[in-house]
Amino acid sequence: MAALPAGLVATSGQPVRSTCPYCGVGCGVLVTPQADGRATVVGDPQHPANFGRLCSKGAALGETLGPADRLTTPRIGDRPVDWQQAIGAVAKGFSDTIARHGPDAVALYVSGQLLTEDYYVANKFAKGFLGTANIDTNSRLCMSSAVAAHQRAFGADLVPCIYDDLEEADLIVLVGSNAAWCHPVLYQRLMAAREQRGSKLVVIDPRLTPTAEQADLHLPLAPGSDVLLFNGLLAYLVREGAVDFDYLERHTEGFAETIRAAQREASSIPKAAAGCGLPEALLADFYRLFARTAKVVTAFSQGVNQSSAGTDKGSAIINCHLLTGRIGKPGAGPFSLTGQPNAMGGREVGGLANQLAAHLRLEAPEDRALVRSFWHSPHLPSAPGLKAVSLFDAVADGRVKALWIIATNPVVSLPDADRVRAALARCELVVVSDMTETDTTAVADIVLPAASWGEREGTVTNSERRISRQRAFQPPPGQARPDWWIISEVAAAMGHGEAFAYDGPAAIFVEHATLSGHAAAGRKAFDLAGLAQLDEAGYETLEPIRWPVRADGGAGERLFTDGHFQTPSGRARLVPVQYRPPAHAPDAKYPLVLNTGRIRDQWHTMTRTGRVARLSHHLPEPFAELHPADAARAGVRQGELVRLCSPWGSMQARARLSAGQRPGSVFVPMHWSEQIARQARVGALVNPAVDPTSGEPEFKHTPVRLERYAVRWQGFALARERLAQIAPWQVKVRYQDCWRYELAGDVAVGEWSAPARTLLGAQPDDDWLEYEDRAGGSYRAALLRADRLIGCLFVSADDRLPDREWLSGLFATAELDTAARMNLLAGRPAGTQTPVGEIICACFQVGRNTLLEAITSQSLTSPAEIGEALQAGTNCGSCVPELKRLIAEAKA
Ligand code: SF4
Repeated sequence: MAALPAGLVATSGQPVRSTCPYCGVGCGVLVTPQADGRATVVGDPQHPANFGRLCSKGAALGETLGPADRLTTPRIGDRPVDWQQAIGAVAKGFSDTIARHGPDAVALYVSGQLLTEDYYVANKFAKGFLGTANIDTNSRLCMSSAVAAHQRAFGADLVPCIYDDLEEADLIVLVGSNAAWCHPVLYQRLMAAREQRGSKLVVIDPRLTPTAEQADLHLPLAPGSDVLLFNGLLAYLVREGAVDFDYLERHTEGFAETIRAAQREASSIPKAAAGCGLPEALLADFYRLFARTAKVVTAFSQGVNQSSAGTDKGSAIINCHLLTGRIGKPGAGPFSLTGQPNAMGGREVGGLANQLAAHLRLEAPEDRALVRSFWHSPHLPSAPGLKAVSLFDAVADGRVKALWIIATNPVVSLPDADRVRAALARCELVVVSDMTETDTTAVADIVLPAASWGEREGTVTNSERRISRQRAFQPPPGQARPDWWIISEVAAAMGHGEAFAYDGPAAIFVEHATLSGHAAAGRKAFDLAGLAQLDEAGYETLEPIRWPVRADGGAGERLFTDGHFQTPSGRARLVPVQYRPPAHAPDAKYPLVLNTGRIRDQWHTMTRTGRVARLSHHLPEPFAELHPADAARAGVRQGELVRLCSPWGSMQARARLSAGQRPGSVFVPMHWSEQIARQARVGALVNPAVDPTSGEPEFKHTPVRLERYAVRWQGFALARERLAQIAPWQVKVRYQDCWRYELAGDVAVGEWSAPARTLLGAQPDDDWLEYEDRAGGSYRAALLRADRLIGCLFVSADDRLPDREWLSGLFATAELDTAARMNLLAGRPAGTQTPVGEIICACFQVGRNTLLEAITSQSLTSPAEIGEALQAGTNCGSCVPELKRLIAEAKA
């Protein structure tokens, strides 16, 4: 078994330059490790993605570190084993399965969280040595429609824009993108530029998101109608003569049929407006603005991609830019914003089931021959493998019998997630590599502990094609190892040691760069030939660099400036597209449309951000955002618990009423797992329909029914240690010095004292304070040990419960003083102190009530004035849209 290379941990005493592991903005960070195992993390002023800025998630990275909850030992079943045994078991399981059933009976399901080096090795292992194209990635779930649209239009998966374009544009159109929460630093950059140059912002989104609130125009289109809206724009541009015919003639093909298709479908503004459910005047304003502005960037994200028509939506957007020649120029172009930190890197190495490495084509014999000879691989599949949803279908019906899941949590994140869990439970061999226990490790046969951010070395590529280093600054805990090492060891155990004899990630990166150079032959955009000679020192000190990186030293050039594309003809293709309704329409039984997405302070399934107290306060519970009219129809009030049911599954969540929600639609965040909340995995509801071209699932459009979840009691517990499951509704929230549990049940509990003592772990010598009003359904108890608060429980028949903030603060004190002890069961200090309310500013923990009070009493009129008064919004700036909303609310 190969040893890990030395030098994984920087020891210079200087801050370590690395990259944030969350979203596709790819912000640079400076990390200073602390003696207690944590680290101080600040934005890297030199990094061209963020110039020193960080959002709330990036700013809290240092608090995600530490060995608590980490997987540290390989295990087979429940049995801890050493690496040799674990590697041997995985290799034997895969070898035996291939011998009995052929290579397509095995599969890998990987992640946009992987570093490029890990991704490269995983793809080489699957396609080159297992002999199957059954390797897909969770990036399938977020941007594969954009990839397919790029390939159709440009002949390759090439993103035309760079971040500077957002600052140089006079009009920015954000489609299906809540950038203020999902790409916060990029959003701050574009808002700063808007302030300076007066550019306009248009947001196209069914929901009034924090991003849409700041827009000059918000178009709350009917869910799924984007193709119609952009076909309408295309037809309008033709009618208004805003067409660059010279560009069309010289650099494109397919424009005549594309124009005809758009005109057929959306021949007038009234027709397009009716189809999109928008006021005609509003749509006309947008069309006019687009037609009259030369420098337009249309940035799109999951709201476009996560659809059964996602590829067509991407094409409809790209068509409008090609029609006007607004591409390959500063401040103009269609711009896919990737969700994950290394979605782009995964695409470079061919991490999707229908790709080969280095932007080569699986279906092209000459491309396969190049890769096969470069890898010296015994065989290479000639047909695409199974895309994510189909892959899990194949697990469910037994075609795939051995599956290795790396750095992702499909039991939470895939559509029809209960079926995914059941499929994995039946699968003959499920191997999971991850950093913590997840809902997916719970159904694994073999679990492998992986190194995580700060412990591993490699590169990631952000949304603008910029490659940045992630650098290690601490060793992995226990026996955790980097993914490239684990995969290479399994490959070696299966007899392929020579092809995977890497002595570190630098060697892998150089191999990847060399292959890209062969594939590009100086003619293609994805080209890292200029990095193929890097030595260890060069890799260690690699500065952020945008590809292409040519052998002659040229780097980061703007794409398509010469109007040349990577299609066989060299011309970009306009693709005629037609509106198709979402796969499943609402009906009488499921009358609402479920839309899923992200919230400001959490990332994916919360395996990392869920460990940080200050990120847990903003939106601590799974929630369903409802339009007040829909809520009223279901008899649901603000803050009540609701049940959402779809034909595929059900979940429970807290109702949040918002007039910004489109009537008939429900928004639910994607983050909560069974590890954190019971019955709150929204993936269980999501329909498994996919885009026929990209295979991307339709996360934005599932018919659902809303019901009031009639609880008999509700309450919360605060405790120093984690508590057992006791309630049908139970949500765990990380606080600074304790855990908070929100609880509710639909069966009355006759007597609370005994279960409360058991829950909080009361010992005979402990102090037990208790208050009960059986008639009123109220119960309160607190457990103290040597005057130290160990836990407390508050239960009520309704939602009249004390604020959690004051009580949670008592866990910071070693001994409760008399006053605190006396007020403990009241749940608040004596006097009339107002609770701070829901935390809005995560950096300085400033609550909604505090903000509203200050805005009113001090007549504050801008986020800057709030910042001066309370510091809120002055660090990462992620809460600025909400501060603006509170100012408006206070004024109203
Ligand atoms: Fe990380 Fe935030 Fe930057 Fe995204 S915007 S890379 S989450 S700091």
